[in-house]
Formats: sequence, C-alpha cells, structure tokens
Amino acid sequence: MTQATVLSGIRATGKLHFGNFMGAVTHFVRFQKPENLCMYFVADLHTLTTSRDPEALRGNVLEIVKDYLAAGLDPDQAIIYTQSSVPEISQLSLLLSMVQPLGQLEGLATIKELLGKTTRDQQTLGLVTYPVLMAADILGPQATIVPVGEDQRPNVELARDLADRFNHRYGSTFVLPEMMDESQMVKVPGLRGGKMGKSEGDDTIDINDSMFNIGERYRKRAVTDPQRVRATDPGDPERCQAVYPLHKLITSDHLEIAEQCRKAQIGCTACKGRLVDSIASVLEPFQERRAELAGQDDYVRDVLYEGGRRARNIISRTLEDVQSKMGLVIY
Ligand code: AMP
Repeated sequence: MTQATVLSGIRATGKLHFGNFMGAVTHFVRFQKPENLCMYFVADLHTLTTSRDPEALRGNVLEIVKDYLAAGLDPDQAIIYTQSSVPEISQLSLLLSMVQPLGQLEGLATIKELLGKTTRDQQTLGLVTYPVLMAADILGPQATIVPVGEDQRPNVELARDLADRFNHRYGSTFVLPEMMDESQMVKVPGLRGGKMGKSEGDDTIDINDSMFNIGERYRKRAVTDPQRVRATDPGDPERCQAVYPLHKLITSDHLEIAEQCRKAQIGCTACKGRLVDSIASVLEPFQERRAELAGQDDYVRDVLYEGGRRARNIISRTLEDVQSKMGLVIY
C-alpha cells in the first residue's frame, strides 16, 4: 500500500549548492522508502524561465541527476525523470491555467519577488505563469507530500487552491498536497548570511567543490559576528551570519561551540575550520560516489529514459481524467 506520493524537483540552472543539498536532496533520500511512491524530477522547463543557454541546460540536467544518484536516490525505488520528457505535465498546466485566477497569480509573493528583480524584457509569460506549471508538476502524480524549502510555500499553497477550485467545479479529482513538517525545513545560509541561492553566485558552496576550496571560501568570505573584531572579544553566535547558523544545522556539538564563542575561547577562523569539518563529514561520502558516476552519461540517460516512461504512465491517467471532466474528447 502506498502511504505517500512524494514529489519534488530542482531547476537545472547550474550546479547544486549546499542549500539545495540540505534543503531538498537529503529529504528526497529520507522519503525514499518501499511504502512511498517517490517522483523526483529535474525541472528543465522551469529552467527556461530564466536561462537561455541550450548547451548549459543539456549538461546541467545530467550533472544534477548524477548528484541525485550520488546522494542516495535509487532508480529502483524512486522515479527519476526530466519534466520535459513528460509532455502530459505541460498539457495539464494549460488546462489548469483555465481555472487559475489571474489576480491570485499577480498577488503571489514569489511572483512579486521575481518581477522585482527582473527587467521588463526578462518578464516573459512563462516566468509569471510558472506557479501553474509547478501546480501541474505536483497535481499530475497526485502528490501528497512536496519536500521543498520554505521559500516555495506560496507555490505549494497555490497548487492546493487550484486543486480545491478544480474539485469544486468539476468534482473530486485531485488530492490536496502538503508541505513537509515545518520542523524538518531548513534554511542554509550563504557565505554572506541570508539564504544560499544560485542567483547569488559568489555566496554559494558547490557540493562538488574540493574540501580545500570550500575551506578557503569560508576562511576568506564567510561573514561572522560583525561586532567581534578581535579573537579575544567575546562573540555572539546569534549575531553570526554565515557560520553559526550552519553549525546549528549540521554540527552535533554546536551548543559547545556557541559557549566557546561567547567566552572568546574559540576564534572565528577556528570556528570556520570546525564548520568545514562538519561539511566534509556530510559531503565526502557523497563526493566519493559522485566521482564514480563522472563518466557514466549513458547510464544516467537510461535512468531518465526509464523514469520518463514510468512518470508518463502515472501522469497521463490524471490528464485523461481532467480532460474528460472538462469536456474534452481526444479523437
Ligand atoms: P531551486 O534552486 O530554486 O530550484 O531550489 C531547489 C530546492 O532547493 C527547493 O526546494 C528550494 O527550496 C531548496 N533550496 C534552495 N536554496 C536553499 C537554501 N539556501 N536552504 C534550504 N533550501 C534551499
């Protein structure tokens, strides 16, 4: 008996960073159990909302799937596919767009933020309607749980509203998806504090970078407690922007480190060193498996081919139901 249908994806805009790894991929692996139907995709269509480099997109897709596999996703236990290999998702998105009120989309926090940071000529129709495509990603397989970061909450809520609206208008069709439990969600800080994000460039930690480089990046760039000038000054871990918030997420003895910081028993450089040790304990086993997949593009393509076939099988059932309820007859 399937207990949960788990769905999530990541855009192929570049290399995965430690925020994607801790905030999304580790949860994908956590949910991968025999009783769950897990569907994990690479959101190549969503990538087109902001990227215009076909060669980079083709390459990034394969690299991200290698990251998925090295992190522990198993194609025998989870369906791994690209969004574009399931045309039913795009068809469903078009049908859902007939039900989605424009006003709600315009008022959505994620859309307002995007419009605020893009120029007029970057603001395509695809960019503003991406939450409807995301609703199709989620509702197509009838996902019950969507492991994504807190930043995605408005989009998941829009998918729920859309499902609810459709069910009222056309009769019970979609299950309403849920986010993960709030206590499981994390926000990985970037080197300058705030949230680590792909668009922030120099602020991120590439999960495939060497531990030496990661250490150097923390040593040279990571912002700590701005009010602590000398190592002999007592620090305040709660004021620390990039280092202590990550210790809290991944270092088991972080309370001890906080105490040492307050008593000036540990300086920021040593504290950064301890953090890099914690990052290494998470990333080193991953990087070992990842290295084995480096030249295995054909294997990755086979995984995606089989995943696409299985995903189409599942999502086409929902699409047929929706078409029929809306009065469409496919001749
Ligand atoms: P994106 O790179 O926007 O496609 O994000 C892919 C997934 O990673 C989404 O579930 C995000 O919520 C998650 N994510 C991205 N950045 C972070 C971060 N700094 N901390 C935690 N989760 C993140």
